[in-house]
Amino acid sequence: MILGDTEKVWTEEFQKLGRTYPKPTLVLFSGQVESACGLAESATGPFYCGGDQRVYIDLSFYKEMQQQLHSSGEFARAYVVAHEVGHHVQRVLGYADAVDEARRTRTNENQMSVRLELQADYLAGVWAAKAQKKFNFMENGDLESAINCAQNIGDDTLQKKASGTVRPEKFTHGSSAQRVRWFKKGFDTGDMSGAKVLFQVRYEQL
Ligand SMILES: [Zn+2]
Repeated sequence: MILGDTEKVWTEEFQKLGRTYPKPTLVLFSGQVESACGLAESATGPFYCGGDQRVYIDLSFYKEMQQQLHSSGEFARAYVVAHEVGHHVQRVLGYADAVDEARRTRTNENQMSVRLELQADYLAGVWAAKAQKKFNFMENGDLESAINCAQNIGDDTLQKKASGTVRPEKFTHGSSAQRVRWFKKGFDTGDMSGAKVLFQVRYEQL
């Protein structure tokens, strides 16, 4: 259902840009899965593969989210799908090109990854705003549950939990505060053109 809602919103947004939205395919899996990006294990978590334009959601991640991350809300799950679809959108629109370059030349890979991930959070927020306007589907506490989820999957929070220390130079997705900030910014503005800022501002300003 959520994927369908992302299709309706992004199809319209792409039309405004004079583009056609290529619908991604959702693949639910548990254990492991074969993708154009290689074999993925559950430990990978949900991911998007540009090579086959598929969003892979590992069902055990949802379980873990519920048990360990304390993000049980329905809308928190929607946020996870919307984030992965955000990766699809940024790839199709070429927003992710700078990241490919960084990976190829092995320069600033972590910082580029953080920008990319925060942009996907921003786009998830934009989607939520547009979808809310269109379907009025959000209930009390929904936004908070997505924010809570973003909070729980920030790099600093996960690192602290895993090793007790925070190493910002190893960040790949951004801190909890950053993930919440950019998701909220996307939601508050509902403006997809604002997504480009993620690759324009100084890293310290993210
Ligand atoms: Zn991501």
